Amino acid sequence: MNWHNPKKTTLRQYDDVNSIKYIVYSDLDETLYSHKITDEEKTSIQAFENYMEHIVKNHQVLFGVITGSSLDSVIQKLETGIHQIMPHFVACDLGTMLYWVKNDGNFYPDQEWVYRLKNMNFNQENVNAIVKDLEALHKIEITPQTQLGSSSFKKNYYYYMIDDLTDKHNIEMIRDFAYKQEMDCNINICNPLAGDPERAYDIDFIPKNTGKAAIVEFINQKFKVGMEYTFAFGDSGNDLEMLSKVGHGYLLDNATTDAKKQYEKVTSNPYTKGILNILKENFGH
Ligand SMILES: [Mg+2]
Repeated sequence: MNWHNPKKTTLRQYDDVNSIKYIVYSDLDETLYSHKITDEEKTSIQAFENYMEHIVKNHQVLFGVITGSSLDSVIQKLETGIHQIMPHFVACDLGTMLYWVKNDGNFYPDQEWVYRLKNMNFNQENVNAIVKDLEALHKIEITPQTQLGSSSFKKNYYYYMIDDLTDKHNIEMIRDFAYKQEMDCNINICNPLAGDPERAYDIDFIPKNTGKAAIVEFINQKFKVGMEYTFAFGDSGNDLEMLSKVGHGYLLDNATTDAKKQYEKVTSNPYTKGILNILKENFGH
């Protein structure tokens, strides 16, 4: 097991929740964190954090981030001076790793989750075998992304678009090969705004029974919280499955066109303002 030894956060923490009644899950990039921050969004983040602090205390709400980013990147993005409080938990690397932040500022891996991963036969060799077979048997080429985005439990590749029909078939084939190797596979159209190439798909191989949606199911079950008491917010295709695992799942107004085509519950405001309004509808002003 190669669990990264994370650094401490300098942000403060939300209060511990003794008897958890509600859970709020949020994606990070373009949801809780905006890459091109405006003054309006800065104000909105402050209002969101104040309100979250209030419902953590008065409604026993647990709040966490589920993201494709690494833990280092989460810490870096939340410590730019705009956010003041670290969420209770961070599920990073596309929901393959789960850490709890304690009030000493340290991150601790969830031991039950570590146990789940211990029993997975996930490694670079098995992913290499899939890549080789796709090419040899079906002439399907996928190319490794830089090591930057990869982790022990997430291996990233690009698939470059050819034409709609071929792509549809090839994507199915990639999923199929992953499934046969007992892996899950996240496939999304790349976002060039986030530094990805044009006309490509992001292909992420992850261990079976992990991922953003698996984290939601795991945490809901861990604290025995029913679906109707759970919320989730996101902005892109890889959030949709997670949104379907909660009672109140929303795309934000600033979500990608592609995601909005596939999911109809959308907030009327972007970013944290969108999240805040939904929470206020449910917990009161
Ligand atoms: Mg996002």
